[in-house]
Order: sequence, then structure tokens, then C-alpha cells
Amino acid sequence: MDKENFSIFPLGEKNDAFAQYFVGQSYLNMLSQDRLFVGNVTFEPGCRNNWHIHHKGGQILLCTAGRGYYQSWGEAARELHPGDIVNIPPEVKHWHGAVKDSWFAHVAIEVPAEGSSNEWLEPVEEADYNKLP
Ligand code: MN
Repeated sequence: MDKENFSIFPLGEKNDAFAQYFVGQSYLNMLSQDRLFVGNVTFEPGCRNNWHIHHKGGQILLCTAGRGYYQSWGEAARELHPGDIVNIPPEVKHWHGAVKDSWFAHVAIEVPAEGSSNEWLEPVEEADYNKLP
């Protein structure tokens, strides 16, 4: 797998700043840090972020490559493919990441809001992740 050319957007660097909130290796390339925060996030197979909440603003994911999952608390996980869009309302506990056997990339857009913040919570239970189809 040529991860450098996996998505139409550059891979960027190892996502060290957020590594404590991820299981596995992810990569982050900020596409915009002026007025609107937009990042290209790439997950190696099996990599996913912890449960988390985007307060006030929410988040929009534009899936660009590979296969991944999105799951909100109390709902079944949804499998994601290139072209899929996930509109995550504020205050919804959720996680996103790759399936076990494929890389995954999405563009993440932070919906701007006064006083917005991210709250990072517990990792996805290994047993629950391993049960996903
Ligand atoms: Mn999120």
C-alpha cells in the first residue's frame, strides 16, 4: 500500500499531537487553519479514535479513500466508503476509524461555533471493535 498516494490529499505527518486519543497509527495534514479548520486524517488498518464529543459546533467527515467506520453511542457502526459524508451534530458521543483490514482516509471539517471544544473519552472496547463486520 502506497500510503503517500492513498488519498487525493497529501498524507501529512504522524498525528503525534492526538496519538493519546487514538488506538493505532494515524496521520494528519491540516488543509485549512484559516477561518475554517479542515484536516485530512488517514488511519492505518485497525486504527480508530477514542469515543469523543465535539461540543457546540460538531464535525463533518468527507470520506476519500479506503474503508472505515463511524459509530455514535447506542447505534450500530456504519461502514464508510469514498464519497460518504457523515454529519456529526454537536454533543453526540462517537468514534471514527479504519476497518481491520484496510486503510481509511477522511477529510474532517470542524463546524465553527462560539466556545467549541472537543472532549476525548475512553477507547472503543477492543471486543466491540473486533465484533464489527
Ligand atoms: Mn469526531
